[in-house]
Amino acid sequence: MSGTSNKNNLTQRIIIAMLSGAVIGILFHYIPIGLFPDGNPTFDKISAFFLDGVLEVGGYWFIASLKMLVVPLVFVSLVCGICSIGGSARIGSISVKTIGFYLLTTAMAISLALIVSNIIDPGVGNLKDVASAEGFEAKESPGLVSVLKGLVPNNLILAMANGKMLQVIFFAVLFGVGLAKLGDKVRLVRTFFFELDKVIMQLVMTLMHFAPYGVFCLIASMFADKGFGDMGKLIVYFLCVLLVLFLHTFLSYGSLLWLFTRLNPLTFYKKMGQLWAFGFSTASSGATIPLTLKTVEYKLGVKNEVASFTVPLGATINMDGTAIMQGVATVFIAQYFNIDLGFSDYLLVILTATLASVGTAAVPGVGLITLAMVLEQVGLPVEGIALIIGVDRILDMVRTAVNITGDSVASIIVAKSEGMFDEKVYLADTNDTQND
Ligand code: ASP
Repeated sequence: MSGTSNKNNLTQRIIIAMLSGAVIGILFHYIPIGLFPDGNPTFDKISAFFLDGVLEVGGYWFIASLKMLVVPLVFVSLVCGICSIGGSARIGSISVKTIGFYLLTTAMAISLALIVSNIIDPGVGNLKDVASAEGFEAKESPGLVSVLKGLVPNNLILAMANGKMLQVIFFAVLFGVGLAKLGDKVRLVRTFFFELDKVIMQLVMTLMHFAPYGVFCLIASMFADKGFGDMGKLIVYFLCVLLVLFLHTFLSYGSLLWLFTRLNPLTFYKKMGQLWAFGFSTASSGATIPLTLKTVEYKLGVKNEVASFTVPLGATINMDGTAIMQGVATVFIAQYFNIDLGFSDYLLVILTATLASVGTAAVPGVGLITLAMVLEQVGLPVEGIALIIGVDRILDMVRTAVNITGDSVASIIVAKSEGMFDEKVYLADTNDTQND
């Protein structure tokens, strides 16, 4: 178990890794453009070794090890959680509160995005230099019926192998209820799951020691590949999305947390640094689940019984940051094409974007896929997505951090209302996380 200073050290190391990764990546992106427009064999060799070798492998290992832990962690931890709350009795109220809260915050997020972007007007003005709107092929997004059908796995192994989180959650809840019902008759199985949970958490802790290297590789690769993208041309859109993400994170979540729990939101934000760095570097709330779970339980005081349900569910269905990007993008694209959106269109955008995040995997770039669904609903050209793609990767990183913040706030609020919250852990000055 690491001490406070070690832990703070780790957070610092992750932040240093992010910053140095960004600097290295930017150098690798812009040096050939600025200094060697006609190519330079030595630089090309170094960059091939470093970018296509070291960074590629390091980044892949890091993401793969996180993902490797997600399914066993969610499954085992949720079985234990459900089993501890005594089966079905409390699951009803926990799930209704959690899902209700997720829908509410997503609707708030997208409404805020629509209001702010209608004030800032990111799509008005001279945007001729922006990449052409032609040539974007929208991928199909799932309809409501297929989302609902997809909740129930017909093959658990397949669901696990494909990382279908909602299906894994569904089975884990049923399994946990069964285990709780049988009580002492299956004590051995129960003990097995609780001990397995400890082992998997230990693996998460071990992986954390390598996090700075993984984070460095991911950030450096991203910047080396994309640089700042079309940020210069899309600066108003870019800043508008950032502004709403910022407002939602600090105003909406801060006030909801205070209103529902009377806890000091500053304490919450202080403990989120490491998790934000993770969400930012991986751009995937799914891959971040192990750390979200660990942070929510051991730093923020949410009992495993609630966290094991709210965190994986939130990573899958709650994407407020993504909804914000979609709100601003909708206004931007409508303004670019000079199409007026009425009040009913905005309501439709709120509804579609809120539902769209349910059932789509929490991986990088998924927000653009569901954006196609939103645009189609209000009759905007889907090709408009090509306009904003140039800055989407960086925004994806920031909005993923916001998505995870939403899951964490919801976990605290639901846990507090269910009496499954340890305020001592929340208030503890230490940034340490513990395994038992
Ligand atoms: N990358 C986001 C997430 O995993 C989803 C998105 O906005 O594309 O939460």
